[in-house]
Amino acid sequence: QRELLEAYRGKPTVDADGNAYQLYANIGSLADAEAAAASSAEGIGLFRTEFLFMDRPALPSEEEQYEVYRQVSSLMQGKEVIIRTLDIGGDKDIAYLSMDKEENPFLGHRAIRYCLDRPDLFRVQLRALLRAGAQHRNIKVMLPLVTSVDEVRAAKVLLSECKAELEAEGKAYDGQIALGVMMETPAAALTADLFAQEADFFSIGTNDLTQYVLAVDRGNAKVEKLYTPLHPAVLRSIQNIITAAKTAGIPVGMCGEAAADPCLIPLLLSFGLDEFSVSPSAVLATRRHISTWHKEAAGHVAAEAMSLSGSAGIGGYLKAASSGH
Ligand code: PEP
Ligand code: MG
Repeated sequence: QRELLEAYRGKPTVDADGNAYQLYANIGSLADAEAAAASSAEGIGLFRTEFLFMDRPALPSEEEQYEVYRQVSSLMQGKEVIIRTLDIGGDKDIAYLSMDKEENPFLGHRAIRYCLDRPDLFRVQLRALLRAGAQHRNIKVMLPLVTSVDEVRAAKVLLSECKAELEAEGKAYDGQIALGVMMETPAAALTADLFAQEADFFSIGTNDLTQYVLAVDRGNAKVEKLYTPLHPAVLRSIQNIITAAKTAGIPVGMCGEAAADPCLIPLLLSFGLDEFSVSPSAVLATRRHISTWHKEAAGHVAAEAMSLSGSAGIGGYLKAASSGH
């Protein structure tokens, strides 16, 4: 098995017809970025920057953040690095920010909502990202948990203010840095066409999308068996997001756990996903799974799966289809 996978190291990611895909890795630190590079990932599809803010007594400064982002950018030189802005709140608390305790933290003051209400802190991160992208121009910025295009517009205003500041200070920055969004809420999935007009790219966060579409807490063992991306509502959301991106001509990736699920690969290929972002340890296996599918066979499997009415049936069908094709 190991040897079988080794054959995929350093190879491009192609399906059985030779269509190419980007296979990226998810990271939470500089050390993870080294693992990602070693795994032969073709880029970074999700850098969870909240880890830079955790387990420490105070906020990381612009200089500290800049240094980490810059190092990841150099390490992945020539390859894309998608860095997600601070995604805290929900289950991720940061002691020194003394965030209020909330009744429903996953529906509360989280991620982009928190950042837009704390521009003092958000601008520091945006400045660090703009500066870190100056040399290799391979950094892209991604906003978590968007539910309204107004949030993207508000982030753009802050981003251009930060650019103007850096310009005035004579500091190097990437003036063309791309701004994309995580598609991980029902609101975003249902209005994906609107987001596609405002964002430079999409990345589907199936971990949260599943939780919010199905109203199932992703961390609650009592409802664990209800938590599955194979529910028709989640699959339709994914399809709608990919179709909206294709229609608008922007790239679309997936950085939730589902991107590494072999069962889902024929659907994602057939819907037209451009980029898969998985943990460094799943890169080679995912590259192999993608290589086994012809587009036409994937299309038949997707059509059949999308015609079924429940996650158990879909799961059973996809398991059989992906082992037997
Ligand atoms: C997701 O929600 O799918 C995702 C990739 O982000 P996180 O798991 O960090 O919420
Ligand atoms: Mg998420």
